[in-house]
Parts: sequence; C-alpha cells; structure tokens
Amino acid sequence: MASIQMEKTLKNYIGGKWVASRSTETEVVVNPATGETLGYVPLSTLEDVNEAVAVAKDAFKTWSRVPVPKRARIMFSFQQLLVEHWDELARLVTMENGKSFKEAHGEVLRGIECVEFAAGAPTLMMGSQLSSIATDIESGMYRYPIGVVGGITPFNFPMMVPFWMFPLAIACGNTFVLKPSERTPLTANRVAALLRQAGLPDGVFNIVHGARDVVNGMLVHEDIAAISFVGSQPVAEYVYKTAAARGKRVQALAGAKNHTIVMPDADLDLAVKEIIGAAYGSAGERCMACSVVVAVGDIADELVSRLKKAGDELVVGNGLEDHVFLGPVIRQSQKDRAVSYIEQGLREGAVVARDGRNDPVSSEGYFLGATLLDHVKPGMKVWTDEIFAPVLSVVRVETLDEAIQIANQSEFANGACLFTDSAGAIRKFREEIDAGMLGINLGVPAPMAFFPFSGWKKSFYGDLHANGRDGVEFYTRRKMVTARY
Ligand code: NAD
Repeated sequence: MASIQMEKTLKNYIGGKWVASRSTETEVVVNPATGETLGYVPLSTLEDVNEAVAVAKDAFKTWSRVPVPKRARIMFSFQQLLVEHWDELARLVTMENGKSFKEAHGEVLRGIECVEFAAGAPTLMMGSQLSSIATDIESGMYRYPIGVVGGITPFNFPMMVPFWMFPLAIACGNTFVLKPSERTPLTANRVAALLRQAGLPDGVFNIVHGARDVVNGMLVHEDIAAISFVGSQPVAEYVYKTAAARGKRVQALAGAKNHTIVMPDADLDLAVKEIIGAAYGSAGERCMACSVVVAVGDIADELVSRLKKAGDELVVGNGLEDHVFLGPVIRQSQKDRAVSYIEQGLREGAVVARDGRNDPVSSEGYFLGATLLDHVKPGMKVWTDEIFAPVLSVVRVETLDEAIQIANQSEFANGACLFTDSAGAIRKFREEIDAGMLGINLGVPAPMAFFPFSGWKKSFYGDLHANGRDGVEFYTRRKMVTARY
C-alpha cells in the first residue's frame, strides 16, 4: 500500500525537473464524482519552498534579459500546445474538480485567452517618452519585471486561475513559483510539462505542492517580490496582511456573494436560463456564481416557479458523462457544509422551493442537487455567507431601490447582475451598485483576460487586480530616465 502511495505521489516541479518533496506527509486527491483516488499530493516543506525560490531567483537573472519578443514567442508556442491538448486538459479538470466537461472545456479556453493576452507583451510592456521636458532635456519611462512572483490558487478553477497569473508574469520577464490547490493539483503538473515543451527555460516556472506551510513560507520569503492569491476571504485577508507587511506587492482575490436583480419587465426566459447557469453551473463553486436572486415586484412567484422547473430538468452526475450539467461539490465536507446551511436557512424562516438534497444520481460522489430557497431575508446566514454550492436564495422586494440597497449591504462585492428592458434601471443600477463586475441581462459577468477582474470590498485585497492592464502594472516596475544630451 505504501509503495502504491509513493508511486502516485505528485512531484514538485523545480528548475525544469520533477523533484520529490522532502515531506513524508501527503493528502489524498480524489475524483469528487466517484470518490476514486487520483493520487497523493505532498504537503511540501519550507526547504522545498526555499529550493524553488532560489532556482527562480537564479533564473530571473537571465530570463529578465531575454528580449520581450522572444518571451512572447514562447507564449505563442504554448498557446498552440494548449489548443492541441484542449480536450485532455478539460478531462483532467473535470476529473479533479468535478465540473462538467463542457464547463471544463470553457475553463481551458479562459486559460488560453490569458496566454494570448500575455503574448502581447511587447506592446503591453512599452513605456512612454516626452521629447522635451525642459530645454534640451527629455524624459522616458521604461518597464521592467519585478523578480520572483509567488502564485497561490484555489480548487475551483485549477486551470483558469493559475493562468490569470503566470503567463503574464513570465511574459513580463518575471519568474514564478506556483502553489496549486492541494485539492486539485493535477492540472498544474500537466501545464508545467507543456510549458517546457513550448521552450520555456528551466527555472522560470516552478511548482511547489502543499498547503499552509508552503503558503506561509512564500509569504515571508525575502526573495519573493510579489504574491498573487485567489481563494476564500479569510485566507485572502491573511495573505494580504502578512505579505504586505513584508513589503511585497499583493493582489488577493477573495470570496463573493453575488446578487442578481430581476425587474418586472425582464425577459423571463432569458433570466431563468442565465440564472440557472450562474447559480448551478460548476456546482455553484464559482466566485462569480449567482447566489442571491432579488425579485422585484410581482414577478417573484412566476420567477420562482420557473427556476424550480428548470432546476428539476438539470442532470446531476459525473461531469464526464454526456448531458450532465451539475457535477459534485469538491469534497464530502463541502456537501455537509452546504446541507447545514440549507437546514439553518429553513430554521431561520426560508422556504425550500426546490430541495436538491435527495436528487437521484448515477454514481458515487459528493452530489447535491439544485436547491432553491425562497423568502430569504438579509441577515439570514444563507444570505450573508458564501455557501459555494448549488444553493440559490431568493429575496423578494418591491422596488429597484430596495434591491440595490440589499445587494449593497453584503460585505462582498465581486459581481452583480440586472435583468431588465429599462435603460433607466440599467443606468441606476450601474451608478448605485457597490460591486466591481456588473452584468446586464446575463448571468456571469466575468471579464475576459484583457480586462481586470475587479472585485470590490471583501472580495479583493490590494490595489491592482488580476489580468488586463492592472496585471501588467502588477508584474512590472518602472524606471524614469531624464536625460540631457
Ligand atoms: P481556500 O482559501 O481554502 O484556498 C486557497 C489557497 O489558499 C489554497 O492554495 C490553499 O492551500 C491555501 N490556504 C487555505 N487555507 C490556508 C491557510 N489557513 N493559510 C494559508 N494558506 C491557506 O479557497 P478554496 O476553497 O480553494 O477556493 C474557493 C474560494 O476561492 C471561494 O471563496 C471563492 O469565492 C474564491 N475564489 C475567488 C475568486 C475571485 O476572483 N475573487 C476566484 C476563484 C475563487
């Protein structure tokens, strides 16, 4: 048994080599749809972190001086390899995360788009000049990489979220140490192999698997210049405070509780289709998931009845099977947590319009069917907390003002959506809602790679967001040169 475990234990990727962790502690990685063991992830040690950072620091000396178009060309090769391996990567994502193959396929596309954006590094890294700031004196701004960047990622997007970080970071001339989620560590290793195949020099991209100890090692390491983190709110806050106190740049993307307002004039067919996708897609395990619907006026009964009916039609099961929409949540503990939220919601006065707890499924795993809680009120735990499961709450109000006011009471502010035909309502929503990513007549307003992923309030800690120009600013520093000839 021990030898089987050793064979299946993942290796770290340091300096272009697969290196066994010094740790003997491992955590099992399971397929959440079947409970099958996929492997074991080492809970790496501080020495493992130190080794990876030393290698990345050394590689920075040469990589940062590689001409930007050459770095970009590696991104082009990498993009091609990702396209060639698209299905394989999507299958891996489904196996370790549980989301449907179609969604995993979409996730790989989101990753590819990040590489395409990063391939624009020659343009993105351009500086600016003014030929005459005083008599015979000119001034220019040049961009440079910052050094070794540490990336710490969550389980829910094992492909996309690391891609928010490393392609742009390395295209800008930095070197990178990734600590993937210990619950979904497999995709990262496959990506590392493809990066090498694309011609990335050894030591530029490294992986150290593990959990808390690895994160803590990275947060205080003096040779790490910046930390990109995505995960839950308490950990994001901790990561931000700890790393910033050590003088590092930090961007820490955190949890969410996204509200979707449905006005009486909304196209209900469209609203229901989009809300179902946003609330139950990826089993609700999305930071842009719709977790609260705010129904305005007399539309509520009809909306709830249609959401229930659409929920009844969703196929629950292993995401690798055809027609499955709703896969498992990541672990039994996550399912238990979601069920306890449903029970607490009912105790606090919510009414279950659709109960997913007993939906039939064809395989073993951590399944929870689409659950719809009606008559939820602000202040109930199901309203305040991020449940991160296929549990959707409906709050009923009379006016748009009330709806906006409720959404704005949440401590989170990642996204918010509005379904309406009214230009006036759209404008009011845009001006008054307190959230960073807004959707109008659509369910998941996640920005593409060339725009920043801009959560507000407790959904984000830092200044510069991931992706887009913000990402370029985050991964570069500027030199100002003022010259008299
Ligand atoms: P998590 O916070 O449990 O883990 C994220 C990372 O932090 C992992 O790599 C984990 O190993 C590490 N970690 C966990 N606990 C730690 C601790 N005590 N000390 C140090 N490191 C620790 O998050 P998760 O459950 O993997 O992911 C889901 C969360 O991520 C949700 O809250 C979701 O909203 C959020 N998320 C946010 C965004 C965004 O863009 N805002 C995107 C995706 C996911």
